[in-house]
Amino acid sequence: SLKGKVALVTGSTSGIGEGIARALAEAGADIVFNGFGDAAAIEALRAETASRYGVRAIYAPADISKPADCAAMVEKARSELGGLDILVNNAGIQFTADIEDFPIEKWDQIISINLSGAFYAMHAALRGMKEKGWGRVINISSAHGLVASPQKAAYVAAKHGIIGLTKVAAIECANAGVTVNAICPGWVLTPLVQKQIDARAKENGTSAKEEEAKLVSEKQPMHRFSTPANIAAAALYLCSDGADTVTGISLSVDGGWVAE
Ligand code: NAD
Repeated sequence: SLKGKVALVTGSTSGIGEGIARALAEAGADIVFNGFGDAAAIEALRAETASRYGVRAIYAPADISKPADCAAMVEKARSELGGLDILVNNAGIQFTADIEDFPIEKWDQIISINLSGAFYAMHAALRGMKEKGWGRVINISSAHGLVASPQKAAYVAAKHGIIGLTKVAAIECANAGVTVNAICPGWVLTPLVQKQIDARAKENGTSAKEEEAKLVSEKQPMHRFSTPANIAAAALYLCSDGADTVTGISLSVDGGWVAE
């Protein structure tokens, strides 16, 4: 059980992050939600999580690409919930174009959200975890942290970078009771992926359903999507006592993507 632990999940107002936050709450952890979205919908998610799972839940409105926001978000966990034991760096965005057409500002934005954001949050959170002698950091990388696809230069670079950052942090925390690991999901049907499916349908004059089936079978031997709950199950494992000595790994949950 994670009762008495405080977990912060960045980008938990949607998709995989929301799934992880729900699973951690179900296991008893108090939750700090973060991410963008409609204020009323976020408040409903926060309140529903607290009442359904009987935990404390708050919302910290940080833009993860801003170091000061990340520091304030971690401070909010400390001042309102008494600490921070589990940090899940999940917030992320995608943009696709060939390198020569890739807008410079999109590159900068993706690197700052998908890579620097995880550094900023760890920068703020690790000292407290080390002092407490217990902590779990889970960085959501991707199959694209291990292999590449065309048109995803910034995303693939950031996700490979996350795996390097995870290894450094794991080594630095190895004897402090703090583990640091990455999860590498394959396809999960979230708004981030739906956008790519819709763009492909528009470009090819096909239906979204057709593009969905094509997308999931192009790279994955297993022709179906993982669910946010599948990714959350991996996160729960990494938080468990059984995973005490698991650190610095990249745990693939990808329908066989990187096996090929
Ligand atoms: P999503 O679009 O459903 O959710 C992204 C979340 O990040 C949202 O809550 C959004 O508000 C938040 N966010 C975006 N920019 C932010 C910022 N600057 N500051 C704070 N929050 C911000 O996407 P998802 O598919 O659930 O993606 C979650 C993570 O999983 C991402 O890191 C993504 O790269 C990774 N991932 C997704 C897939 C997939 O197939 N969906 C596969 C591999 C990895």
